Amino acid sequence: MDTLGRMRLLGFRKWYERQLVEGHLYLTSCFLGIIAIASSLELYGAREGPLGLVVALGVGLGGVWATLFCWERYKRIMLVAEHIGAHAHCPECNAYARFSVVDAGKALHQEPANIEDPKEVWLKARCRKCGCEWTI
Ligand SMILES: [Zn+2]
Repeated sequence: MDTLGRMRLLGFRKWYERQLVEGHLYLTSCFLGIIAIASSLELYGAREGPLGLVVALGVGLGGVWATLFCWERYKRIMLVAEHIGAHAHCPECNAYARFSVVDAGKALHQEPANIEDPKEVWLKARCRKCGCEWTI
C-alpha cells in the first residue's frame, strides 16, 4: 500500500505516529550497520586464512549497505512526516490533524514517498470540522 492509501486507512494521527516509529526503527538499523562496519574491521585484523577475509568483507559490505539503505529510508520518512505534520493545522478554524485527504502528488503514491521531485510532494486536505480545503 502506498503512503496515501495508508494515510487514508489509518487517518493522519495514526499514520504520523507509525511514521515516527518506522523512521526510528530505520535509524536504529542504520546504527547497527555502523556497528557491523566496525566489527568487520575487527574481524579483518584478527582474520585467519581466506575464509576470515571473506567473512570480514561480507560483514563490512553488509554493514555499508544497511547503513546507507536505512539512512535513506529514515530521511525520506521523517522529511515527509515532518512536512505534513507541520502543515496539518486548518487555515480557517486551526483544528490540528482533523482532515481527510482529497488528493496527493505522485510522491505520496509510492511507499516510501519518493522525495526526489519536491513539486510532487503535496497533499490536498479537507478539514473535517469546517470543510475548508488547503494544500500541504
Ligand atoms: Zn477547519
